[in-house]
Amino acid sequence: MTRHLLTVHDLRVAFATEAGPARAVDGVSFTMNAGETVGLVGESGCGKSLTALSLLRLVPDGGRIAPGSRITFEEQDVLAMPERTLRALRGHRLSMIFQEPMTALNPVLTVGDQVAEVVRVHTTASAGEAWTRAVDMLAQVGIPDPAARARQYPHELSGGMRQRVMIAMALILEPALVIADEPTTALDVTIQAQILELLRDLRDRTGMALLLITHDLGVVAEMASRVLVMYAGEVVEEAPVALLFDAPGHPYTEGLLAAVPTLDSTRERLHTIPGTVPAATAWPAGCRFRDRCAHAWERCTTEPPALAQLGPAHRVRCHLVQEPERRRA
Ligand code: SF4
Repeated sequence: MTRHLLTVHDLRVAFATEAGPARAVDGVSFTMNAGETVGLVGESGCGKSLTALSLLRLVPDGGRIAPGSRITFEEQDVLAMPERTLRALRGHRLSMIFQEPMTALNPVLTVGDQVAEVVRVHTTASAGEAWTRAVDMLAQVGIPDPAARARQYPHELSGGMRQRVMIAMALILEPALVIADEPTTALDVTIQAQILELLRDLRDRTGMALLLITHDLGVVAEMASRVLVMYAGEVVEEAPVALLFDAPGHPYTEGLLAAVPTLDSTRERLHTIPGTVPAATAWPAGCRFRDRCAHAWERCTTEPPALAQLGPAHRVRCHLVQEPERRRA
């Protein structure tokens, strides 16, 4: 039997709001194997970042992981472990690259100190050894003149360099799993490509698994072997990347794919999915995508679709799996 590196089972995260509980993550289950890259995609507000934060038990204030949710990482129960064990895990075996390095980095510490701090906290290395390793890691993530840069503060570096520092911090201890939450969103296109190349290179060198959270299917196509599509707090499709691009099963995935820019000159305007993600306090009855779906029929308004098997590694949450003749041309 294959032992998974990570198993997430029926993860539910809710926030108390004036309008009632917001069920922002609502029954998410998936697994990841060692060394695997999985893309977690969806529009903002679909629950993907919150799913990622839950893996590290970093749910924002007011949010609560519901009883019955299970997260197992390297055969340890993440939700049951004492805070001390969890702190030892974070940044060491399981780490995260955040969206916005300016808010994640400490503005009053040099970047070298911040990278070295990760080594000091999790290992028995001396201050001098930790500093040497930090400078070496800054070199590995492509920071020129790393010994001098290590003595600079975050505001003295460009956005791309700051993101490289974040990657250095996340990877210096060679974790088994790295979660990258929109790691290139705040960067311009050229720097985005460089950062993705760097992540791919480090992944291949260290054998780490990568959970890549993004709204950009182009990034997923380049990096991931498997994709999970989230909508309204749920996984609505899971498939190997080639299959998802060739034969998507969920109308939402089709919409996301149609919105990917191409060089095809016959396409005059980029397709967008009509409407917006509903509020987490009031998920619609039946299928949560029904108000935006061109194929919806009566059954979709009353019966919530289950995640059904469409092929050996392909799961889709849509009634069209059982009634494909309902698909409109
Ligand atoms: Fe569309 Fe119905 Fe499928 Fe939902 S269940 S995605 S509304 S066809």
